[in-house]
Amino acid sequence: MRSSPPMCEGPLKGKGINAIYDHLDPLMEFKPSFINVTYHSSEHVFKKNADGSFQKVIVRKRPGTESICAAIMNRYNVDTVPHLICGGFNVNETEDALINLHYLGIDNVLVLRGDAAKNETSFEPEPSGHRYAIELLKQVVNLNAGIYLEEDLKDTSKTKFCIGVAGYPEKHFEAPNMDTDLQYLKTKVDGGADYIITQMFFDNAKFYAFVNACREIGITVPIIPGLKPITTKKQLTVLPRTFHVDIPADLANEILKCKEDRDVEKIGTEWLLTQSKDLKNNNVPVLHYYTVGKPYVVSNVVKEL
Ligand SMILES: Cc1cc2nc3c(=O)[nH]c(=O)nc-3n(C[C@H](O)[C@H](O)[C@H](O)COP(=O)(O)OP(=O)(O)OC[C@H]3O[C@@H](n4cnc5c(N)ncnc54)[C@H](O)[C@@H]3O)c2cc1C
Repeated sequence: MRSSPPMCEGPLKGKGINAIYDHLDPLMEFKPSFINVTYHSSEHVFKKNADGSFQKVIVRKRPGTESICAAIMNRYNVDTVPHLICGGFNVNETEDALINLHYLGIDNVLVLRGDAAKNETSFEPEPSGHRYAIELLKQVVNLNAGIYLEEDLKDTSKTKFCIGVAGYPEKHFEAPNMDTDLQYLKTKVDGGADYIITQMFFDNAKFYAFVNACREIGITVPIIPGLKPITTKKQLTVLPRTFHVDIPADLANEILKCKEDRDVEKIGTEWLLTQSKDLKNNNVPVLHYYTVGKPYVVSNVVKEL
C-alpha cells in the first residue's frame, strides 16, 4: 500500500454507480493512495406468521462493496479497500467474498466486526460466522497462506491481502477500559494486521496519546488517523451517540452559536483543516478522510494542505 495523502471513503450506496463517480471525480485530482468502500449489513425485521411463529425478513439490502471497488479501480486506476465485516456472513460466504476480491485483483481489505443490527441491542454473529474481527482476520491470513475452509477445494491459490483493522483513540464503546481495548488491538496486529485506521476524532491530542499507548505495548504497524468534517448542528449529538467520540468544547461552542448549517460547515471545515495541518506537521504520513456525502468539504481542506 502506498503512503501519500489523502485517502477517502466512498459515499452511501444504493443510488447507482454514477452517484459514486460524481462523488469521487472532484477528489481524484488529489491522487488518493486508496479509496475505502464501506459495507453495512442488511436490515431486517421479524414478521409474525399466522401460526404465531416469527420469520426474519430483510427490508434493506446493501450489496455491492466488491463490485463498487472493482468499478472504482477500473475507472480511476487507484487501489480500493473494501470493508469486510463479520456481521451477516457465515464463514463460507466470507470465503466467497474473499475469492471474488482476489479474482478482481483487489488485494486490500479492512477487516471489521460490524455493529449490532438496527433492531438488536448487541452484536450477534451469524451461526458459523465470526464474533470478533480477529477471527475474520485469521480467515484472511489463512487464505494468504493458501489455507481454505475445505482442504479438498480445487483450483485454489494463495491470496495476498494487505489487511487493515480498526483502532479507537477514545476506546471502543464496549471495551471495559482502554488497556483492555489496546490489548485486543495488539492481538489483531500480532495476528497479521498490516496497519490500523482509527475511528474519527476531533482532538489530535487523543490521537497522539493513542499512538504512544500503542507503541508502548509493542504495536509497530502504521496507524492512520480517520478524520471527518462536522457539517451540521445535529452532528453534535449524533456523532457522540453513534460513534462514541467527544467533540471538544471549543468546537461545540462555535457550532452552537451558528444559525444555519452553512455556517456550521464553515467551522467544521476550518477545524478539519487545522487538525490536518497539525497532523502533517507532526509527520503523520497518511490522512484518511471520511467524506460521507460531502466530498467538496474534504476537497476544500486538502487543497490547503
Ligand atoms: C475505520 C473504521 C471503519 C469502519 N467501517 C465500517 C463498515 O464499513 N461497516 C460497519 O458495519 N462498521 C464499520 N465500522 C464500525 C465497526 O464495525 C464497529 O466499531 C464495531 O463495533 C467494532 O468493530 P472492530 O472491528 O473494531 O471489532 P473488534 O476488534 O472485534 O472489537 C469489538 C469489541 O470487542 C472487544 N474484543 C475484541 N476482541 C475480543 C476478544 N477476542 N474477546 C473479547 N472481546 C474482544 C474489543 O475491545 C471491542 O470492544 C468501522 C470502524 C472504523 C474505526
